[in-house]
Amino acid sequence: MSTAHLHDVIVVGAGAAGAAAAYHLSASGHRVLMLEAEAMPRRKPCGGGMAASVQRWFPFDLTPAVDQVIEQVRFTWCLDDPVTAVLPGDSPFWIVQRSRLDHYIAQQAVAAGAELMDRSPAESIQRNDDHWVVESGGHRYTSRAVVLADGSSSRFAGSLELGNPRPRYASAVAVEVEAEVKEPSTARFEFGLVRHGFCWAFPRHGGYSIGVGSFIGKDPVDADAVLDQLLPSLGLPADAGLRQQSPLRVWDGHYPLHSAAGAVVVGDAASLCDPFLAEGLRPALLSGVRSAEALHHYLNATSQRQAGQALANYSQAMREQWGESMAWGRRIAQVFYRVPKVGYQLGIKRPTAPQRIAQILSGEMGYGDIAQRVIKRLLFQRS
Ligand SMILES: Cc1cc2nc3c(=O)[nH]c(=O)nc-3n(C[C@H](O)[C@H](O)[C@H](O)COP(=O)(O)OP(=O)(O)OC[C@H]3O[C@@H](n4cnc5c(N)ncnc54)[C@H](O)[C@@H]3O)c2cc1C
Repeated sequence: MSTAHLHDVIVVGAGAAGAAAAYHLSASGHRVLMLEAEAMPRRKPCGGGMAASVQRWFPFDLTPAVDQVIEQVRFTWCLDDPVTAVLPGDSPFWIVQRSRLDHYIAQQAVAAGAELMDRSPAESIQRNDDHWVVESGGHRYTSRAVVLADGSSSRFAGSLELGNPRPRYASAVAVEVEAEVKEPSTARFEFGLVRHGFCWAFPRHGGYSIGVGSFIGKDPVDADAVLDQLLPSLGLPADAGLRQQSPLRVWDGHYPLHSAAGAVVVGDAASLCDPFLAEGLRPALLSGVRSAEALHHYLNATSQRQAGQALANYSQAMREQWGESMAWGRRIAQVFYRVPKVGYQLGIKRPTAPQRIAQILSGEMGYGDIAQRVIKRLLFQRS
């Protein structure tokens, strides 16, 4: 086994979260190694819906990764009873192709000085005296800090005791369909066909990203039965597209996302995904950015106390800037998905609701801003 030279940070996983962390760390002058299990650009089952507001976290233009700009959102209940909302011009919503977005940010990291090794799964991560040792493909890499960005199936978050020790999973099935898109600037959300969740159809270049997500309960969703109804409503054959089942860790409580020895967990591995609407890209990018800021201070700290505080600031920032809204999002999900028909009538069909959802997805508002009114309305079933 060969030992490579010491890096400042090893980032395990070059998805959205890992690539964002690697970019910001390299741009701050740190020596970064990204280890990615798959060949880049890699496929990732994902709807690709993302608020354009994430652009503020990056000095480079993200639009090369954008496939469609969404101008309106249509909600339905059992493919009927539609509500269409025109998104405000100041809260645009993008559809990105994940293979492109993640690779693009990783390339920006490389341009800023990071080293990317794809087809290189991390096999073990251990603390050895004052540094980390990561083994991959017969090589041993060493660093002062590590970023765990290995996604919803993370094998390292649990063993390093970072994030939620008992992750909760939503079930999600993704379908990519090549087709002529009729309304390229409309994203659709259908609430009545999935028992404890919803399905979506996002237009992208040359087709649709379609998916079925279920957020509470352990019963598996019969995604084929849902798609049999959803696909024909888009003018597509009921059996169109390649179906891929993906586990998705969702937010389920506040947990430390750092260890004093210089490890942080980001993105899905940190269980950050929104438990109501499955929004995982924005928190993945946010955690990449915030963890890089914290690690920058950790690496430059002049005392142990300063170093420990720098990393504790990361967990605290994610709690304030994301977790507190998600705590309310989880409560809304628990009430809404138990009585979804009432939820649709009293929640989604309200004239102000689509605007609120757009504001939540863009980060202008948190679930805390609407939760108490929504929960009261659903529990007491009044409009
Ligand atoms: C069907 C579906 C639809 C979704 N739609 C949306 C949506 O429309 N909008 C939205 O905001 N969110 C959506 N999400 C959630 C979103 O996809 C995730 O939250 C997001 O991908 C998290 O990014 P990440 O970088 O943390 O993880 P990932 O993108 O999963 O990246 C993890 C990376 O780590 C690599 N890796 C794993 N193990 C190792 C290892 N041992 N060594 C090295 N590398 C490793 C993997 O190969 C992968 O490249 C959806 C999720 C699903 C499942």
